[in-house]
Amino acid sequence: MITTVRGVRDILPAEMPGWRLLEQTARQIFSSYGYQELRTPIFEKTELFARAVGATSDIVEKEMYTFADRGGDSLSLRPEGTASVVRAFIENNLQRTLPWAIYYMGPMFRYERPQKGRFRQFHQMGCELFGAEGPLADAEMMAMVLRFLRRIGVESSLTLEINSLGCSQCREPYRGQLLAFLQTRFESLCEHCRQRLQRNPLRILDCKGEGCRAVARQAPFMKDHLCGACGEHFQGLTTTLTDLQLPFAINPLMVRGLDYYNRTAFEVTTTALGTQNAVAAGGRYDGLVAEMGGVQTPAIGFAMGMERLALLLDAARVDASPPLLYLVAVGAAAGQRGVLLAEQWRDGGLPVVLDPLGGSMKAQLKRADRAGARFVLILGERELAEQAVLMKNMVDGVQQVLGWDAVVAQCSGLLT
Ligand code: ATP
Ligand code: MG
Repeated sequence: MITTVRGVRDILPAEMPGWRLLEQTARQIFSSYGYQELRTPIFEKTELFARAVGATSDIVEKEMYTFADRGGDSLSLRPEGTASVVRAFIENNLQRTLPWAIYYMGPMFRYERPQKGRFRQFHQMGCELFGAEGPLADAEMMAMVLRFLRRIGVESSLTLEINSLGCSQCREPYRGQLLAFLQTRFESLCEHCRQRLQRNPLRILDCKGEGCRAVARQAPFMKDHLCGACGEHFQGLTTTLTDLQLPFAINPLMVRGLDYYNRTAFEVTTTALGTQNAVAAGGRYDGLVAEMGGVQTPAIGFAMGMERLALLLDAARVDASPPLLYLVAVGAAAGQRGVLLAEQWRDGGLPVVLDPLGGSMKAQLKRADRAGARFVLILGERELAEQAVLMKNMVDGVQQVLGWDAVVAQCSGLLT
């Protein structure tokens, strides 16, 4: 018996209504804000992620699925979506037609320790907006995320957290201050943080370890060391969120795990999932397009984790779309005719599920019931002789006989 790879799972049909709800709602809401879909490749040159996500990020350092292809090129399965979207933006010469507003959805791959809400193949839906510089765009994007979460009915357990990560002007001096402070608390840091202290001191602020958290609470905060322009941007964001009546919390310890972010960072967290509490995360990356070889273009984006959203969905709320018409053909001759009739009725626009296993009437009716069929069309020996079916309403048990030619006309009215 060969199983799936650790941290990778099947999404079974019973879960699909929830997943479809996520996808359909996202498409609706994102496009209503002016976003268009982009599909990028599942794998890219490794250097794309090394450059965009950052060589010292956890993702690039230890989480990527990297392999040499047969020609010897180093490729990686995408660990996130933004790097590819930025590449596509530059490569397809879209920099002249701003704004460019893009959404994407699909699988991502990270070699992480699997646990509830954390997988090695997982799915994200995300948006990227190129061209808008001011804080209005940031606030509007957060409003869109919250609208989506409200629409799928999971809003109640959620908090919007924001922070500012500053820019290249103010982050360097702050980084120095932070590093100096952390060095005085070296003994209290966990092993991992001691190792990354020099390379990436900001990441220590969101270490989950007890000791590191105590240190982080006393550390200098980026938001208190912003330059004038970054301070104004952050002020503009909080003002607009307040005007929009979107509740938010400032989390000065939030630093994002991807190196490309500047200024606005945001996360939506839930109290309902335990440790894996982030359902959406994003931020501004005004320097990334230029860094990747394009024309300097401000940008902001976010991604949501679909597995975590699916866990939050109220399963009962989700419509499984059971069959409307379920054809039960009893006996070899009826089975033979049933295939033809089902096709003929489908030609007429009806959705018809033909019981695929056959057998006794009782067995087939049981399956129709289990599938949640609303109407069963029974084709037995007698009906076959009369060129008719017995149509049974599975809710109230009411039955009527219909001639084969009358089925489309009679049943079309049920399709609303
Ligand atoms: P976390 O702090 O949970 O590791 P992250 O900061 O690595 O998240 P991002 O890279 O910003 O997350 O991805 C955005 C969202 O994608 C997360 O908020 C989460 O919902 C989801 N996500 C990230 N990694 C995983 C994973 N391994 N399995 C499932 N979902 C994930
Ligand atoms: Mg992570």
